[in-house]
Amino acid sequence: MDSETPLVAGIELGGTKIVCLLARGPDDIVDRVQLPTLHPDETLAAVERVLDGWGGFDALGIASFGPISIDRTAADYGHITSTPKPHWAGTDVARRLGTRYAVPTGFHTDVVGAALAEARWGAAKGLGEIAYATVGTGIGVGLIAGGRPVDGLTHSEFGHIRPARLPGDDWVGVCPFHGSCLEGLAAGPAIGARAGVKGEEIGADDPVWEPVAHALGQLCHTLVLTGVPRRIVMGGGVMVGNDHLFPRVRAAMVKSLAGYIALPEIAEDGFVVAPALGGNAGPLGAIILGQQALAEQRMSFTAL
Ligand code: ZN
Repeated sequence: MDSETPLVAGIELGGTKIVCLLARGPDDIVDRVQLPTLHPDETLAAVERVLDGWGGFDALGIASFGPISIDRTAADYGHITSTPKPHWAGTDVARRLGTRYAVPTGFHTDVVGAALAEARWGAAKGLGEIAYATVGTGIGVGLIAGGRPVDGLTHSEFGHIRPARLPGDDWVGVCPFHGSCLEGLAAGPAIGARAGVKGEEIGADDPVWEPVAHALGQLCHTLVLTGVPRRIVMGGGVMVGNDHLFPRVRAAMVKSLAGYIALPEIAEDGFVVAPALGGNAGPLGAIILGQQALAEQRMSFTAL
């Protein structure tokens, strides 16, 4: 990698840990520091100590747990908004860090970060239109079109769609907002609540997986029909620990689409796949968010 490539500070802000990465890309990582996510004041001060110590970078990218405000014209831009995580609702992250370091700053969700990284360097390498879904403590989807996140009023929230249910399944679900939305039916806490034991103790043949695979198949159905991704990458603790889910989710998606989208790609094993970047997807995505913010600033200077 040449010295013309910008040096970017990337921060993946997760619910339990934070990864700070100083890098130009996956093959040129200068430093990587992991911190616990504690009270926001304490946590952001710790992040600033790490970034202060790096002594300069060309751009900053932040990929955060959400929901977050990504509208640069909004008063709460750069904030974490309605999270149930104690003390974090209403926390300013991107304005605070962007002001402190006075460099172009990109700010988006952790799943969009992971989607951008998987699309550039990982399991969907070279594809401009992809979806990255994480199924873990919660469910989130980063949707990319033309190499950029699909945004509107705010970022998408596919984790809270209401999937069709299996006949006879009227379990109420665990989402505090919607009960039996996708996250309320198929994220880790839902699986644990329905099975009555922790997720890692549930065998592949346990009947609890049937409604989970069905609900995740509904997610893929919805993604195929709306975001029209060329590939769906599925990660997070539930998927990574349970390979048996992949063929079941693919089958549920194909059955649900019922031949309506007659493209052979969708029925192939390579359409719904596991991630390739592991724990570095989020922080590398933050590097891309920083690169994109820098490119946007350069374009706006050129236009003057
Ligand atoms: Zn919900």
